[in-house]
Amino acid sequence: MKAYRASILWFVPHSEGPARALFEEDGLLVVGPDARGTQVVQAVGPYRQVIVDYPSVPVEHLPGRIIAPGFVDLHIHYPQTNVIGSPADGLLPWLENYTFPEEKRFEAPEYSAQAATFFVAELLRNGVTTALTFATSHPESVNALFTEAQAQRMRLITGLVLMDRHAPPDLLNRAAPGGGADSTENSLVESEALIQRWHGKDRLGYAITPRFAPTSTDAQLRGAGLLAARYPDVWIQSHVAENKDEIAWARALFPQSRSYLATYDDFGLMRARAIYAHCIHFDDDDRALMRDTGAAAAISPTSNLFLGSGFFDYAGADRVGFQYGLASDVGGGTSFSPFQTMLAAYYVGREGQTKQGLSLNPQQLWWQHTAGAARALGLEGVVGNLLPGCEADFVVLNPNATPLLARKTALAHSLDELLFSLIVIGDDRLIERTVISEAI
Ligand SMILES: [Zn+2]
Repeated sequence: MKAYRASILWFVPHSEGPARALFEEDGLLVVGPDARGTQVVQAVGPYRQVIVDYPSVPVEHLPGRIIAPGFVDLHIHYPQTNVIGSPADGLLPWLENYTFPEEKRFEAPEYSAQAATFFVAELLRNGVTTALTFATSHPESVNALFTEAQAQRMRLITGLVLMDRHAPPDLLNRAAPGGGADSTENSLVESEALIQRWHGKDRLGYAITPRFAPTSTDAQLRGAGLLAARYPDVWIQSHVAENKDEIAWARALFPQSRSYLATYDDFGLMRARAIYAHCIHFDDDDRALMRDTGAAAAISPTSNLFLGSGFFDYAGADRVGFQYGLASDVGGGTSFSPFQTMLAAYYVGREGQTKQGLSLNPQQLWWQHTAGAARALGLEGVVGNLLPGCEADFVVLNPNATPLLARKTALAHSLDELLFSLIVIGDDRLIERTVISEAI
């Protein structure tokens, strides 16, 4: 067992009401192995109280630092690290000119391996300890990322991109060699093999990953839905309702469905542990479908602002009551840093011309990228928080990391003022250290 003495930020459990942070100025976080040998939080609270129960545990003192839960990124593309900051006239030209050519390179295992190494290191450097990420349509890309995440003990969920039409031929799923299964059938066979190889191994999880409805045939979506029913604790990830051209295309391809979102439901792809990126252009029937199926939205504000896609409607989501959390969506998104993502979410919330504008509370914003995102993944009480029993993934923040941060945070008179300063001014320099739960 080991204890850390610092200021500590964590969250009340969802069962105790709306998102609210807890903050202990002089706190103690005690971590130690659970019955399976995983390092979990044993106790958290005021130093003077908690130390009484753990008098002989070695304490690392981190004066002036803040310990907070590791961040959870609900949607990111590891093959798009090199695509950050590529200029384009919106989503579809951006895919064609930058994203697809880069993703082709992941067919080569060595290319995938070096990209995975950089990607995992960059997440951890930014304080992200859990991520749901896209790979490419090549199994090599999935194996490379799982291998690296396992080596770093990171909680990571990914899967083979399912794409059997409307993309460059060498990015479509491959047929089985020797004239066996066609590309559609083979993509499902490969997905199931990857589930069996990786899902539930150490801290890894598998996600069934149709890129988005327009790049899959009916047969592929149907097969993905059957796989999702057969493996209920496997995740599902895709994109929906990001921009209006994309929606028009999806509607033309699947006219029998009530809406673009409903297409996924019609193929059995909406349920708990299904995460849909964007969810911008929704009506209330779509919102109710999210709520009723237990699916969750991965709000991707830097991406939506960068590509000019639109603004996630927080008031609409809360009025109907579906789950959501924050995501970087690199490379459409512009930063790996959760601070940049939280700030962009604040901008998106404020926008009041296309929907109701509101000011997201800093505790709420932070929750969306930690405990709230974990809840959306079905991992509440596992990651994204520092309540006893949670895996001991956390960041050590240095609020004096830059002159402006030091000056501004010293003026904070409340938790909201402190957290908002960190959100608005902070970046990767705030993350002094990222600690990952270790198996003993
Ligand atoms: Zn995306």
